[in-house]
Amino acid sequence: MKFIDLRSDTVTEPTPAMREAMAKAEVGDDVYGEDPTVNRLQELAAEMMGKEAALFVPSGTMGNLASILAHCQRGDEVIVGDKAHTFLYEAGGISALGGIHSCQLPNQPDGTIALEHLQAAIRPKDIHQPPTRLIALENTHNRCGGVVLSPAYCHKVSEFARERGILTHLDGARIFNAAIALGISAKELADPFDSVTFCLSKALCAPVGSLICGSRDFIERVRRVRKQLGGGMRQVGVLAAAGIVALETMIDRLAEDHARAKRLAQKLEGAPGLKIESGSPATNMIFAQLESGSPITTKKVCDALKERGVLVGAIEPHRFRIVVHYWIDDAAVEITAQAFWEVLKTLKTDHGA
Ligand SMILES: *Cc1c(COP(=O)(O)O)cnc(C)c1O
Repeated sequence: MKFIDLRSDTVTEPTPAMREAMAKAEVGDDVYGEDPTVNRLQELAAEMMGKEAALFVPSGTMGNLASILAHCQRGDEVIVGDKAHTFLYEAGGISALGGIHSCQLPNQPDGTIALEHLQAAIRPKDIHQPPTRLIALENTHNRCGGVVLSPAYCHKVSEFARERGILTHLDGARIFNAAIALGISAKELADPFDSVTFCLSKALCAPVGSLICGSRDFIERVRRVRKQLGGGMRQVGVLAAAGIVALETMIDRLAEDHARAKRLAQKLEGAPGLKIESGSPATNMIFAQLESGSPITTKKVCDALKERGVLVGAIEPHRFRIVVHYWIDDAAVEITAQAFWEVLKTLKTDHGA
């Protein structure tokens, strides 16, 4: 069975144009800096983010890890949101591999960290305390609902940091979804930060890869860290070629994903026992909840949806994440909405509710 897969935008497969570009890619040894396709991708990425340089890495996780390792020394502290991908889903790499301490501050529902919380968390000069070296934000904010951080907020945080000699990093895994949702360039969103990472392998459909962007000096240090992590790749232009197609042709169309996500959310509205979270979808992700305490769990719903050929994410016992992407067309939106209604009605009857 071919599934309608809404668990994540990471399930996106490369487009025919990408496969063609991959087959034709000129390559060289990228550890020697000699892969022309990788070099072209890196130049394009740096330009799009308004930074001096960029580096291709295998994943967003390595992008954040290598960035934070390049910014911080052992025993330094990085401030992250308590719902940040880096804190929740990157296997504790910064502390396991870097000896870097994290300070987790509450992410507000809009994905921000309150400035007064930042203010209170900055360490004084004191040998008992780890020095605050870096503040990391996330845009769009995944766990907060694919919500978008505004450039105004990001500038406030970066000004606050700069005044205190603290660096800033943006986990911009989905920065282009944020840019499209705001109708501005990704460069404007990257501008406040010393470094930015973004993913090619999510909504942009490339099979593999992320980029780290920042100053030339920073990227040189990141290149060494990438080597230490075993992320120096050789004729990787075959992957970078797909990334170039992603950056050149797959960004503007993200508006279609956002529109389909809205349409799907509207169709799901009112399905028995299901509540779309307020403000959702902000971009390409719908977050929806079942009544808490209900015997109908997301796991039961997902199992029944799967029998109908639809996959969605059960991220908590009563909370779904439904992600729209390139391979979800109008027909898939219809089928998904219909499957949800049928499953929820059936489960409700089964539970005698
Ligand atoms: C997916 C994701 C990452 C990590 O990307 P991988 O390529 O899966 O390692 C980092 N940050 C956010 C916000 C993400 O959604």
